[in-house]
Amino acid sequence: MEQTFVLLKPDAVQRGLLGKITSRLEEKGLQLVGLKMIVLGDAVLDEHYAHLKDKPFFAGTKKFMKSAPVVASVWQGKNAVAVVRKLCGVTNSRDAEPGTIRGDLGMSIQCNLVHASDSVETAKAEVKRFFKPNELHAYKKTLDALSYSEDERQ
Ligand code: ADP
Repeated sequence: MEQTFVLLKPDAVQRGLLGKITSRLEEKGLQLVGLKMIVLGDAVLDEHYAHLKDKPFFAGTKKFMKSAPVVASVWQGKNAVAVVRKLCGVTNSRDAEPGTIRGDLGMSIQCNLVHASDSVETAKAEVKRFFKPNELHAYKKTLDALSYSEDERQ
């Protein structure tokens, strides 16, 4: 099954929303296969946000992402990358649809609670960037038999 990388940002940690956000992903039927709390430094942020390096808000984004620990996680499921992006909502929380994490819980473009991989290729690179192979756990999710049809589980 497809994997995606999710980072719960400093505002999620500070606002005590880790459980609420994680619950949404669990309740959707996604499988948690890796989880840890880390402090981000300049090197990993320069790599992770390389596509933003020329943006005027880049320095502010980095400062924010270093302002508290973050929680890194890997989630697995059918079309997990697209499913999780949809659950997060658009970048600007004020524009995000009600029902999405950002739409329900956020008011900011910078402090938008969560990062999620935007493509299968990016997800592979991000999982590798933040997790060692032995930090990812393969186990059979017993409820998959109820979350998916037999065909979908193939
Ligand atoms: P996303 O996180 O939705 O994939 P981007 O990769 O474009 O969005 O941006 C990465 C992060 O940079 C955003 O989640 C947000 O925290 C911050 N960011 C993006 N655009 C802006 C902006 N115009 N002003 C301030 N911060 C921004």
